[in-house]
Amino acid sequence: MKTLDDTLLMEIQADLEGTMTSLAAIIEKYDLDISDEDIEDRLLDGNAAVERSVCCEWWFSPSDLEFDEEKNGGVCQQCEPDAFD
Ligand SMILES: [Zn+2]
Repeated sequence: MKTLDDTLLMEIQADLEGTMTSLAAIIEKYDLDISDEDIEDRLLDGNAAVERSVCCEWWFSPSDLEFDEEKNGGVCQQCEPDAFD
């Protein structure tokens, strides 16, 4: 088991962006001792933050997502172009 330090966090963030990899798959791939909730929080940290869109569950940079109140999460421009007007 590994602990999720900042270096590893950045590696995982780079690995996730532009994919729809599940949290469970990432935890297993990196052999991490962390819960889904905790890793999702950590992924929002730092310069290379990634956020999972609620529309298509792909990972994006948070600045590429628009918060949708109805869905209570970030949506991407491809799925919800109207949110970006
Ligand atoms: Zn989407």
